[in-house]
Amino acid sequence: MANPAADPDAARERCPDCREKTPHHVRVEIRTESENPENAAFSREPYRVAVCARCGHETATRMNNV
Ligand SMILES: [Zn+2]
Repeated sequence: MANPAADPDAARERCPDCREKTPHHVRVEIRTESENPENAAFSREPYRVAVCARCGHETATRMNNV
């Protein structure tokens, strides 16, 4: 089945360690921000986590920050 979303070339992103565009494994993670402990329960943010398939470098981007 041809699924464009599963195309490895579509997941290429720039890796700061490899210093070029490499295939990445992308997942979404809910992370709890702990800057303010009182609000910890209310500051769970979805992060888009991209892991370089070549060197394993992990880049997390807050999704609702755009
Ligand atoms: Zn890399």
